[in-house]
Amino acid sequence: MSAQILDGKQVAAAMREEIRQEVARLKERGVTPGLAVILVGDDPASQSYVRSKEKACAEAGIYSDDNRLPADTPEQALLELVRGKNEDSRIHGILVQLPLPKHMDESKVLLAVDPVKDVDGFHPVNVGRMVLGEKGFLPCTPHGVVQLLARSGVQTAGAHVVVVGRSNIVGKPVANMLLQKKENANATVTVCHTGTRDMAFFTRQADILIVAAGRPATVTGDMVKEGAVVIDVGVNRVEDATRTSGYRLVGDVDFDAVREKASLITPVPGGVGPMTITMLLWNTVESAKRTAG
Ligand code: NAP
Repeated sequence: MSAQILDGKQVAAAMREEIRQEVARLKERGVTPGLAVILVGDDPASQSYVRSKEKACAEAGIYSDDNRLPADTPEQALLELVRGKNEDSRIHGILVQLPLPKHMDESKVLLAVDPVKDVDGFHPVNVGRMVLGEKGFLPCTPHGVVQLLARSGVQTAGAHVVVVGRSNIVGKPVANMLLQKKENANATVTVCHTGTRDMAFFTRQADILIVAAGRPATVTGDMVKEGAVVIDVGVNRVEDATRTSGYRLVGDVDFDAVREKASLITPVPGGVGPMTITMLLWNTVESAKRTAG
């Protein structure tokens, strides 16, 4: 069997069209959704993420409030900027691009964001609401995975989902979301990590295997059940002399081998990646809708 591709670009494009239409409806009611993006320092990867977010906002008709601060900005100045955005009625979502420079306490900065504007879903209030199954903001990458499954017609109810990775931004939240007694969830969830003994024993039982380990080929062909759905969240740079850049992007799954076993598989790039920014726009519009009443 050769798996079909779960096309994140296509699902993300359809969602962005829905978002664009929702933004147009909000504007007719006098509300323009606004996202404040705060970038401290000049990390090239962060700059590139921020540019993509701003471009996506512009395409969707969302007002993007761009804030670039030098790397040596005092923590207090960043906290004051965040508090100012909390009070600014044009702003419905605040995104502080991580990682922050070493002299700043990330958790203190994330705590300063008003939970009603925390469109990244990283504030402990929103994390708590997610675990309790209450309405809040869901973190973008795991929510993107859930939407990708749902909109591709993959049934999660009753399925055995195995997640590889337990980070706060991907593994833990995606496991939590999929075990909720809700639509697009209701799965039996197993979470694997570096402390797991015989990981292949668990991954081979997965109807849906979600891999977020941050290491190429963490999952090989022999670790996957025939017909499984495989979601590869990983993004890794590997050297490739045939490319002008000198590298190419690969996921955490040995794509060619796993494709022969799986029924559906996400490519890297073009799988989960395009869903992440889409869910950020989604949350910003959701926040504006809540304000508009
Ligand atoms: P992370 O914080 O480094 O966490 C990796 C997790 O995987 C940890 O829980 C670690 O276990 C586990 N792990 C690592 N190697 C393992 C192995 N050999 N066997 C079992 N478990 C293993 O990474 P992350 O932030 O979750 O990101 C994961 C990947 O997703 C990265 O490649 C990242 O670039 C990518 N990512 C993509 C997007 C996107 O939009 N497409 C967004 C976010 C992240 P321990 O806890 O035991 O250390």
